[in-house]
Amino acid sequence: MFSYRHAFHAGNHADVLKHTTLIAVLRHMVQKDTALHVFDTHAGAGLYRLDGDYAQTSGEAVDGYLRLALQKNEAPTRMVQGQAAIKIESKKPAEAVPLAPALLDYLNLIASFNPGGGHKVYPGSPFIINHLLQGRERDRLKLFELHPTDAKTLSANVAQLNAGRLITVLQEDGFEGLRKFLPPPSRRALVLCDPSYEMKTDYARVTAMMTDAVNRFATGTYMVWYPIIPRPEAHDLPRKLKTLANRESRPWLNATLTVKSSKLGTDDEGEVVRPGLPASGVFVINPPHTLKATLTAALSQATKLLAQGKHKAFEVESGGH
Ligand code: SAM
Repeated sequence: MFSYRHAFHAGNHADVLKHTTLIAVLRHMVQKDTALHVFDTHAGAGLYRLDGDYAQTSGEAVDGYLRLALQKNEAPTRMVQGQAAIKIESKKPAEAVPLAPALLDYLNLIASFNPGGGHKVYPGSPFIINHLLQGRERDRLKLFELHPTDAKTLSANVAQLNAGRLITVLQEDGFEGLRKFLPPPSRRALVLCDPSYEMKTDYARVTAMMTDAVNRFATGTYMVWYPIIPRPEAHDLPRKLKTLANRESRPWLNATLTVKSSKLGTDDEGEVVRPGLPASGVFVINPPHTLKATLTAALSQATKLLAQGKHKAFEVESGGH
């Protein structure tokens, strides 16, 4: 079975990119009243504790979400204890700059899960989506999660929402399960595909799922997260998605965020590179027309705030319009 558990990584720089994009996309889509179907093919556990055992092991939120939260000029969290707290204190900026609207939106949404203040709870994609669908009774959210432990936790977390018919948790393979729901009756849908890429075959499965989905339902909005690592399959994935979108004459957007060099050990500038994911991207087919400007403003700022050394970059590329 899989060993990847998102709880180790909750709130890291990849989650900042992914969740900021997800919020921006969905905010735009809920402006229309027509029923919306949202599919999260790799949902995870739904909610994470940043002071829990898992998150403490690597404390990845310290170099992701928590850095931004600090920039919002909040008091350094006391929830993250030990080394992590020392790190946060030492990184507190002398003077906080105003944050880009999409980053502020992301931080405010997470803050709503911590009504008493602090940063104890970090919502995963299912809870972020549900938050944005509030008050829209005709919408539907389908969550796929294959890992038995995460699926159980997700179901328990979702049960507390009393969301009734709005949310369905499926302990199924999301790559396979999506097809039976496309096209949705309302002909409006967002698909988030966020695998762990623990298995090399995930890359090919993303392309196959996306090809099938776009053939079934060309006008849906599709968002795929991918890691940027020195591995041919990872390098090829955005290229293949671009080819798919261009072949189907669909507009697309590809946004990437790099926070450190991918070289292990010492990089070209003589800086020591800590282990861990250096960069990631989100590829969106049929993005909202506002997304490029929104993400450009957010990522130009995020890349500076989240950089772990001199090597940092972002890119927001689009095509097919
Ligand atoms: N989307 C979540 C979020 O943003 O909060 C994080 C998801 S995590 C990166 C990937 C999840 O996919 C893991 O919980 C893993 O157990 C699950 N998973 C792996 N293979 C799967 C598959 N074929 N179908 C559905 N879920 C799968």
